[in-house]
Amino acid sequence: MGSVQIVTTILAAAITAVAVWLAARAVMKIVAVIRLGRPDPERFADRGARTRTMLAETAGHTRMLRWTVVGAAHWFVMVGFIVLSLLVLEAYFEVVSPTGGLPLIGGLAVYGLVTELIAVLGVVGILVLIAIRVRNRPTRPGGRSRFTGSTMWQGYFVEAVVLAVLIMGFVIRGFKVATDHFEYPVWATPVSHAVGALLPDWSAGVSIAALIKIAISMTWLIVIALNVTMGVAWHRFLAFFNIFFKRDPGRVGSGLGALRPMMSNGKPLDFEEADPEKDQFGVAQVEQFTWKGLLDFSTCTECGRCQSQCPAWNTGKPLSPKLLVLSLRDHAYAKAPYLLAGGGKDLTGEEKATAAQLAHLDVLALAEADKPLIGGAEDGGVIDPDVLWSCTTCGACVEQCPVDIEHVDHIVDMRRYQVLIESSFPSEAGVMLRNLENKGNPWGAPQNTREDWTKGLGFEVPRVGEVDDFEYLFWVGCAGAFEDRAKKTTRAVATLLNEAGVKFAILGEGETCTGDPARRIGNEFVFQMLAQQNVETLNEAFEGREKSTRKIVATCPHCFNTLGNEYGQLGGEFEVVHHTQLLAHLVSVGKLTPVQPVDGGVTYHDPCYLGRHNRVFAAPREVLGSAIGGGAGGRGGAASISGAGRDSGLVEMPRNSERSFCCGAGGARMWMEEKIGKRINVDRVEEAMSTKARTIAVGCPFCSTMLSDGVNGKGAGEQVEVVDVASVLLRSVKPDAAGEKGTAAGR
Ligand code: SF4
Ligand code: SF4
Repeated sequence: MGSVQIVTTILAAAITAVAVWLAARAVMKIVAVIRLGRPDPERFADRGARTRTMLAETAGHTRMLRWTVVGAAHWFVMVGFIVLSLLVLEAYFEVVSPTGGLPLIGGLAVYGLVTELIAVLGVVGILVLIAIRVRNRPTRPGGRSRFTGSTMWQGYFVEAVVLAVLIMGFVIRGFKVATDHFEYPVWATPVSHAVGALLPDWSAGVSIAALIKIAISMTWLIVIALNVTMGVAWHRFLAFFNIFFKRDPGRVGSGLGALRPMMSNGKPLDFEEADPEKDQFGVAQVEQFTWKGLLDFSTCTECGRCQSQCPAWNTGKPLSPKLLVLSLRDHAYAKAPYLLAGGGKDLTGEEKATAAQLAHLDVLALAEADKPLIGGAEDGGVIDPDVLWSCTTCGACVEQCPVDIEHVDHIVDMRRYQVLIESSFPSEAGVMLRNLENKGNPWGAPQNTREDWTKGLGFEVPRVGEVDDFEYLFWVGCAGAFEDRAKKTTRAVATLLNEAGVKFAILGEGETCTGDPARRIGNEFVFQMLAQQNVETLNEAFEGREKSTRKIVATCPHCFNTLGNEYGQLGGEFEVVHHTQLLAHLVSVGKLTPVQPVDGGVTYHDPCYLGRHNRVFAAPREVLGSAIGGGAGGRGGAASISGAGRDSGLVEMPRNSERSFCCGAGGARMWMEEKIGKRINVDRVEEAMSTKARTIAVGCPFCSTMLSDGVNGKGAGEQVEVVDVASVLLRSVKPDAAGEKGTAAGR
């Protein structure tokens, strides 16, 4: 060993020792913070599905690749990071000796080839990611950036380190080529040989370059160890765990659909026995999230994909799902010393720690502990109430998040405490909650008017109990029964089912609200009350039937979601379809035959709770495709989807399917005023009108109301019509039955 190698070896060992010690300390800190969360035993079930999903999402980058260029570039960087860790290891042999290399695999041509290839693609990948970050920097002129609020220096730092480490790999190899100590053939390592041709014959260069590479890598480790909230770096380790422990592993759309029941001590809360002094009602302190919640916050990469899709953020509201997660993360880590010292409030609000336990605590941690989780700037709150109540629970954030963070669950958990314990929520929603409790529907309409929509249909709508041989129970929903626009959809669906010879029956006055708006606003108590009543009614209606014949068709995606995904939590197991699915089936088997083409172009707005939350994208498009062509589109109606304008059939909006933009009504926002920023429905209507289609087709009564209001607000009611998919089909199948505007089954 020469004198240069003695120095490089000592320096490499010293910086590595410091980095490893700091990193071990940081890992222990992160684990300790995550362990502060509440238990969540379900996360350990289905380990096989969890492992498969984790491997598919990491090795296959299945979620990242939804954004193709970024996903591909990130895949090469990720693989580069894993494989090229071997080259960092190899550098430790090279600081000791310029001819050093990895034992066993070092020297194999295939090793040289693979590492060379991955290094080249890694350089290309990281340059693409840097270019994307620079192009989307928050300070660029014009437009909002998905990186707004992200800690930009951390992103640039991580990317610069990756680039530098990759380049130093080629420099080390180049010096080996120049000093004739390189074992790999030119065909396997052409770039290294090309670099070597430019470098001098200097054997110390190998060890010095290796030391620089180690120093860069260890500096990275030291920096991230000193910044445990640096998600852009730590996600490299935490993402595997976060994906493994996600909700519903193996289900596409995990984290969407059903909300989790309200949990206390790892078990669903039973309201009949619950005691607010012993049981946790929602989340009032950051440590009351489950450990998975705290893992979520720690894993956020600050990529801002969620923010870029969020309807609240995009219309100037204070809510960004990314900033919400970052606020919770920063608060959790700042409060952690206090909690780890034994601090915390019990469920009655009393301090758990003794004065002695808190005596030597950092004043900043104590100040952090005093912050209310939900509170305005004047109270030093972590999450502003306007942030909490801006969420429509549309799920765009969950859908986009590459590391499976479950924003909607966290938001609703915080709402639950505010509603159930603090009675603190937008006052205008109080009327809706009172109506649900007293009348069983959010409008407060008399229960005995639930069947008014059946009047004048020209055929009898059977009630459950009057007939036993019904195939589908038609769940009308509150909007479908009481709201004028939605009543037309209900009549259209009933007319089409009757036309197709489907045996169906309604509950009539036996139906009450599913409880969706109560659950999404956070009032789990009212939800459970309504849901239990409905589950009982439905179980009675389907008594003696197998699950496969307990079929329900619903026109409202919120009912569809609640009945199909949430009632199972309360003992109600049913086969639930949305009316567009049933209609698509009836068209495909020839029981409904569209004959009259639809003029003027049609665009389709995906309701969040039908599309993103439940993955029903094709059926409404198939129905519309068949109707638009007047039967010519037939089963292949979706094939008529095009990007062209008026008179060309179904025209997709730029934001459609998984990336559809919310109408603004979900998450009980339908019942709250929208006082901040641009109205979400107006934003969506402008997008719909940009397609030049004369018909905006919807599959949800709330979307129908919101978009109709948006169209009318723009004074475009004469040029553009908002109408349900069922009504579009009815006009094509039975132009006479659709009748005049507002008079018969259609529209
Ligand atoms: S659910 Fe929708 S509105 Fe709520 S934070 Fe996520 S993207 Fe924004
Ligand atoms: S998409 Fe996920 S990882 Fe990216 S900023 Fe949002 S929460 Fe964080």
